[in-house]
Amino acid sequence: MQIDRRRFLATSSAAIAAGTLRPWPLLAQTPAPAGTFEALRRGVGIFTLRGGTIGWLVSPDAVVVVDSQYADSAPVCLDGLKRRTTRAFDLLINTHHHADHTGGNGVFKPVVKRILAHARVPELQRMAAVQAGNEAQQVYPDSTFTDVWREAIGNEQVAARHYGPAHTGGDAIITFERANVVHMGDLVFNRAHPRVDRPAGASIANWITSLERIPKDHDKDTAYIFGHGNPRFGVTGSRADLDAMRNYLVAMIELVRKGVAAGQSRDEIVKLDTLPGFPDVEPLVPSLSLGAVLGVAYDEITARG
Ligand SMILES: [Zn+2]
Repeated sequence: MQIDRRRFLATSSAAIAAGTLRPWPLLAQTPAPAGTFEALRRGVGIFTLRGGTIGWLVSPDAVVVVDSQYADSAPVCLDGLKRRTTRAFDLLINTHHHADHTGGNGVFKPVVKRILAHARVPELQRMAAVQAGNEAQQVYPDSTFTDVWREAIGNEQVAARHYGPAHTGGDAIITFERANVVHMGDLVFNRAHPRVDRPAGASIANWITSLERIPKDHDKDTAYIFGHGNPRFGVTGSRADLDAMRNYLVAMIELVRKGVAAGQSRDEIVKLDTLPGFPDVEPLVPSLSLGAVLGVAYDEITARG
């Protein structure tokens, strides 16, 4: 699933039109897009270009990368990080298996000691690659965890936690404890209709629960990084943005419950194009519509067994 932030569409469309997936530096006539690096706190920051937001920690004694976007945008991130440090990279963590978060794993693989993800990620990544017909291009995590992973890396404590199924069946959020920054992966589409990957084990019900639990495991000053965001709202924020996402999911699933109780069909339910009370939530791309989310909610609510 490609999710492009609008301001990068212009720069990436030339490469897409040329049908190339090669790294930008090899494109003779297309200037390499710069991507955007933004520092947040205590050596932790973000990189945006195409696909899911990359999080990074660069300090004198630790280099950690969270998510890898695509094979064609990851080299831009890697080059920029290398300009910020001469230190060897410690670790790449994937928040989940989707191609816009793992497609650049092969770019980082030669420079990181490990690639860490939730235990279900390799299997889900393989399944998605079989469907997409691009198994040969996959680079999989080589270390996994089930509930909680936590490790000191240099002067930072890094933790990865799985709160159960939400956006997929193998989501992790990554906490840089001393910086007090959390990468939410795709548990937050900031004011945008989310993808809900039901074939990969997603659960809207537990997604809501996760968004309620996560702020309780952090504090009011915690800064959050989001996998995707409405450009008007951005890909970083606070607990208020987690609450907004949670409230959206609650309202959306309530709407579907009422429709199901009133005997509406799936076709009728997915035709709804506004969710009362959430005018700011917009589609990032046409396929990520309210209707698509309502359809998955209908399937989840009406599933038997
Ligand atoms: Zn995703």
